[in-house]
Amino acid sequence: MIILKNYINGALAAPTNNKYIDGYEPATGKVYTQIPDSVDADVQLAVDAATKAFPIWSNLSNLERSKYLRKISELIEKKLPELAKAESVDNGKPLKLASSVDIPRAVDNFHFFATAIEHFASESHFMEQTAINYTLRRPIGVVGCISPWNLPLYLFTWKIAPALATGNCVVAKPSEITPMTAYLLSEICIEAGLPAGVLNILHGTGPNVGSAIVSHPKIKAISFTGGTSTGKNIASIAAPMFKKLSLELGGKNPNIIFEDCDFDAMLKTTVHSSFANQGQICLCGSRIFVQKSIYEKFKNAFVEKVSQLKIGDPLTDVNIGAVVSKAHQEKILSYIQLAKEEGGNILFGGNKFIPNDERCREGYFVEPTIIENLDYRCRTNQEEIFGPVVTITPFDTEEEVLTMANSTEYGLASSIWTNNLQKAHRVAERIESGIVWVNCWLLRDLRTPFGGVKSSGVGREGGWEALRFFTEPKNVCIKY
Ligand code: NAD
Repeated sequence: MIILKNYINGALAAPTNNKYIDGYEPATGKVYTQIPDSVDADVQLAVDAATKAFPIWSNLSNLERSKYLRKISELIEKKLPELAKAESVDNGKPLKLASSVDIPRAVDNFHFFATAIEHFASESHFMEQTAINYTLRRPIGVVGCISPWNLPLYLFTWKIAPALATGNCVVAKPSEITPMTAYLLSEICIEAGLPAGVLNILHGTGPNVGSAIVSHPKIKAISFTGGTSTGKNIASIAAPMFKKLSLELGGKNPNIIFEDCDFDAMLKTTVHSSFANQGQICLCGSRIFVQKSIYEKFKNAFVEKVSQLKIGDPLTDVNIGAVVSKAHQEKILSYIQLAKEEGGNILFGGNKFIPNDERCREGYFVEPTIIENLDYRCRTNQEEIFGPVVTITPFDTEEEVLTMANSTEYGLASSIWTNNLQKAHRVAERIESGIVWVNCWLLRDLRTPFGGVKSSGVGREGGWEALRFFTEPKNVCIKY
């Protein structure tokens, strides 16, 4: 049994109450870790350490801070196989996905912001023969970073790296469902010699640790990624305290396929955008809209391709691993049941999957599932399922598909498949989402603004947006 610890003031520490939560391996359904069930007192220790470290850390030069971040990036890269295995075991995702996407992206996040901070600049505004204004951008102080379970180290470091690069001290909380790689990151920070208190990592539940971070008066900004209802709750506490808030929330992303697309490229990517990480990526396209003239062709080819996906033990060579928890498996299966009640026709999958090998018989697996014949306004097509479940719906015109695509409360990401340039621009402009991919999916340039509209969030991450979020601008006006 692996016993995790908090990382406070540069050292690993047991929770003050000595209580732990069971951590499960989704592929086996067995408990394999003990996770600190931290409380307010642990948050207070972390805030005290961060407050003490802030004057020193914020007064280092950008280059000095950058060196620490680069060191952390290098250590993550060096330990990639170990971290990828830990992520796969903790989350249920295929080892090959953790090795090729999750951990390399954590390496990149630290490296990207380590270098970005060296190029970060602020504005100046000249008033003819009168004055010059310049904008100082200073770190905020102690900030809170809270992340979800679907891309554990990837999303955790996506917040921590820009917060540290800009000179803030951080109190961070990974999801209690997948805390392992955040724990391993604390060991890496110790090895990298990161000064005590600069980064503090606390483990525990949302209601205990998460809300104590959100409501702590000394934590001046919250960067949160997770579900929309949690985001709402966080905003209701943090907004009246006038904290800076960045909220990256849920999605119900449309994937729009026009008859004039490159069919083979679309098909290959659509299998991926539907079922990568068992559909548990906030950017997965869960509502597939297909132009009527190619609907039957698409349907047959898609079912055929999906039927070839290998599902099973994530530590072996599979395309689909386990979903993250028993509760999540039950939620996904209940949505499949709802889809049937709403008149959906299950074209493929629809069930719990039980692998043949003994090790994984109690694991949380769900077959990749394709459903058709649902109204675009039904609950299955409006609510976030966040699993390996997609619906396919035919459409005639651009106008019609835009109405259907824009009908949900969400607006995170979308994909458009067409070889008509004008159409691509027209639809991209009118679609209500923060991110639009044309003839691709998940092609990421870390400099671009990342985030959603409507109930998918407030604010943007990535590039300058993240560096601006984690700094406070101050205008200085000097008269001639
Ligand atoms: P969640 O909202 O349940 O939990 C996210 C984090 O918030 C966890 O660390 C959790 O412990 C913490 N938390 C829970 N209650 C809290 C509270 N009251 N106060 C403070 N913190 C609290 O989300 P999840 O189930 O871990 O993740 C899945 C969700 O995340 C999906 O909705 C998905 O779309 C979303 N997501 C969004 C993005 C994005 O970039 N927009 C990326 C990944 C995941």
